[in-house]
Amino acid sequence: MRQYQHIVEGKVVDLPLGKVVCVGRNYAAHARELNNPLPTSPVLFIKPSTSLVKMNEAFSIPSTLGECHFEAEMSVLIGKQVSNCNEQEAQDAIAGVGISLDLTLRDVQQTLKEKGLPWEKAKAFDGACPTSAFVSKTIAGDLQNKQIRLFKNDELHQDGNTADMLNPVLPLISYISRFFTLLPGDLILTGTPAGVGPLQVGDSLVVELADFIRCTTEVVSR
Ligand code: ZN
Repeated sequence: MRQYQHIVEGKVVDLPLGKVVCVGRNYAAHARELNNPLPTSPVLFIKPSTSLVKMNEAFSIPSTLGECHFEAEMSVLIGKQVSNCNEQEAQDAIAGVGISLDLTLRDVQQTLKEKGLPWEKAKAFDGACPTSAFVSKTIAGDLQNKQIRLFKNDELHQDGNTADMLNPVLPLISYISRFFTLLPGDLILTGTPAGVGPLQVGDSLVVELADFIRCTTEVVSR
């Protein structure tokens, strides 16, 4: 598989591959489907740069670690360093808007959660963040009115709208930057709407963000 690079408006951009900061339970309907309580403040976790792979064409999943779930999420590429930033600085730091899969080893995660242990093995493994090419924020427009859709084997599984986020993108970036300095090349995953489910080798996926990103891809063996 070809190596992942950040692509904005069809061009490889000069930004390193950084960390991926993710928010859990950012859509009430998804929190409910996994029987999780609604958080009182954003639940954050990080995937390392080694989790990034291209979403287009094909990506692989671990074969011996139980169920691997798809979670389609709007992703935001960071182009400027920000720390303790306000919402305007958060807006200025956005270099692109795309769609990613927060791949999750659900059985591994369940076991870790039951023991009160961190989720890294379930969320941060190699290849755990297939990511699309990005569009500019000008093309993306209002980030809180974007349809996210995922079809698996031609069947619609996820159909949500970023209007339903509990923590909208700009306050979320501002909040994240209180804990983690965001660097050029970092990515923010903004949470998944309801409808997540398991992947199997051979599944074909179409993952869409509004009418400007449409990734056609396939799950292959590792
Ligand atoms: Zn997620």
